Amino acid sequence: MCLTCSIVKADILPVGGIIYKDDYVVLHHCIDINIPGYLILSPLRHVESYSDLNQMEIQHIGIIMKFGVTALEKMDGVEKVYVANFGEETTHFHMHIFPRYKWMLNDLSKNIYTDNKVDGAKLFCFCRKHYKTVPNRMKQNNVLAAIESIRNLFLP
Ligand SMILES: [Zn+2]
Repeated sequence: MCLTCSIVKADILPVGGIIYKDDYVVLHHCIDINIPGYLILSPLRHVESYSDLNQMEIQHIGIIMKFGVTALEKMDGVEKVYVANFGEETTHFHMHIFPRYKWMLNDLSKNIYTDNKVDGAKLFCFCRKHYKTVPNRMKQNNVLAAIESIRNLFLP
């Protein structure tokens, strides 16, 4: 069973629970990368490419992605928010909404630079390896607090 479909069907509950869900999309925290506010946005339907999305899914992805990015930009220490789709591990189409924190740049040994500029792709890849954990350890750190502050921004 696809991981995202399992989350849609509530067979798997991501850390902090579902942040937002409607008839078309679901937004939740990444289940196993210990970076506060790292969000995953997916259509409910199992499709594998942006080109498979219907008009309503595209609209909801766009609107909720803006909410997610805006929420992360308001968080302490976030200096940039990346959005990306890869679909290598989980083929169910999903957008990564990934906060870049100031503390990520402190350790120069991370090799996250290309030509002395921060390389977003390298940083994303490094962080996904370095901060990977198991779901039941995700409650450590500030993940739950981040989820709560993001959820509050979605409330009317
Ligand atoms: Zn799926």
